[in-house]
Amino acid sequence: MSDVRIGVIGAGYVGLVSGVCLAALGHEVCIRDIDAGKIDALTAKRVPIHEPGLEALIATHWQRLTFTLDLEVLVASSDILIVAVDTPPSYSGDADLSRVMAVVDELGAVGGDPRHILAMKSTVPVGTGERVRSQLDARGLRQVGYVSNPEFLKEGTAIADFMHPDRVVVGAFRPGDAERVAALYAPLGAPVLVTSVPTAEMVKYASNAFLATKISFINEIANVCEEMGADVAIVADGMGMDPRIGASFLRPGIGFGGSCFPKDVAALKQLAGNSGYHFQLLTSVIEVNELQKRRVIGKLKKHLGDIRGRRIALLGLAFKPGTDDMREAASLVLAGRLLAEGAQVVGWDPVVRDLNGLAGVEIAASPHAALAGADACVIVTEWPEIVGLDWPGLTETMRYPVVIDGRNALDPAAMTRAGFRYEGIGRLPDAMLGAGDRE
Ligand code: NAD
Repeated sequence: MSDVRIGVIGAGYVGLVSGVCLAALGHEVCIRDIDAGKIDALTAKRVPIHEPGLEALIATHWQRLTFTLDLEVLVASSDILIVAVDTPPSYSGDADLSRVMAVVDELGAVGGDPRHILAMKSTVPVGTGERVRSQLDARGLRQVGYVSNPEFLKEGTAIADFMHPDRVVVGAFRPGDAERVAALYAPLGAPVLVTSVPTAEMVKYASNAFLATKISFINEIANVCEEMGADVAIVADGMGMDPRIGASFLRPGIGFGGSCFPKDVAALKQLAGNSGYHFQLLTSVIEVNELQKRRVIGKLKKHLGDIRGRRIALLGLAFKPGTDDMREAASLVLAGRLLAEGAQVVGWDPVVRDLNGLAGVEIAASPHAALAGADACVIVTEWPEIVGLDWPGLTETMRYPVVIDGRNALDPAAMTRAGFRYEGIGRLPDAMLGAGDRE
């Protein structure tokens, strides 16, 4: 067992996974949230989020985990305090740092000593660490260390991502603080980048902005492929074979969503703007992403004509498979647009049951019930439960067998053979045929 005790502030997707993984690495971990429902659930061994493997990992390392609503309890029982509170977008596009600053305020009241280091895992704009440092100093907490320790895990594969990171980034004001935080990750064997606090903060924003740019880029290539009669899946394969480009994040679809990319791209654009720099590229990345979600409506109209009164099934509601997270999910935009056009919308998802944000959408009990009598179906999230349906057997279930595959998850040729009017994103019905060869 390690003699470094960890306190985690925020029991969300990042805080809970990080805390439980650090317990698995042998640390005593105390996790604090202000949401009594979450703490009650966790104390009763119930996991308030959907993250594969998390419940089992909590059960295995239960003896090293405690949960509390009380920051004082956490501070008294911890050496390194990991901050993993939410930093949602504000109306201005800047990251809303009110939760982060509330933690600093509370710490001022509770106190701290030289063994404490505040490790910022929340994604915060460049300059936040310096602001927090000066706030800590002003509250008599000069002795408490501060490091930026951005997190790169992905919902749905969060445990594996935490346990096998591509890199660990630690930005510090004092080398000793960086060493103590980097030592937590030593058992993971990942490369460690130790740098200044602002540079570490920028690594996180620049990484997310680059990945979002890659997605918007391949989405635009897909749209051009549709005009030109090329197949984007093969184009992406061909591009990805070049190691300078790399194969990941070249899967076209109906745009990125989730709790990170949209807000982090907007925050970086805003951050640059605040300092007088117009980040032109990110402006386009955001615009392309918004238009990409709406292109689905055009595809539906192409097949159905007027969509008023049509019954449209949305399969998959979460922003991606493996999570129940609905933040900035494409399903919300699609449902909103379809309802505004007068369509009836029925949705199904293996884990999302909450209608929050989906007012007016009927939630079906099964994918078959969602497809029954539907005029068209849109695959919004490529859950295995959706991709693995017996699609040929479903043509008869729908009123019109129109499938818009927003994630290019199904085989166009097989779907067409099965009798569907299938349309993916930038795909050909049969990529081996040129336009002139098709019937
Ligand atoms: P989340 O909304 O799931 O969890 C945040 C938690 O913090 C909530 O449970 C909330 O009640 C709690 N909280 C708020 N104020 C608190 C306080 N004063 N004390 C204790 N708890 C408090 O958010 P998340 O998805 O885990 O993201 C957390 C941060 O990590 C964000 O900055 C996010 O950008 C970043 N991040 C998220 C991911 C991801 O995939 N979700 C990946 C990398 C980084």
